[in-house]
Amino acid sequence: MDAEGMLHLLAAEPTLLPPAPAGAGGDAIEGRRSEDHACLRCGRPADTALIADTKEHGRRWLDLCYEHFNAVRKAA
Ligand SMILES: [Zn+2]
Repeated sequence: MDAEGMLHLLAAEPTLLPPAPAGAGGDAIEGRRSEDHACLRCGRPADTALIADTKEHGRRWLDLCYEHFNAVRKAA
């Protein structure tokens, strides 16, 4: 799945992703990064986290390794 495919999945199935707290900001992202999560795309340990606003399903975490973080950032 490429980054655009993942963004489509995200739009179609946001409930697959863990919800992020409504007020989550930089501190929450730092905290999330320090936890043990797997990259959504390759399953390797995630180095970073993004918060995606899916509107009706609220904000959701995207855990990604650096490689896929950069791929998604470019596609988004
Ligand atoms: Zn990855």
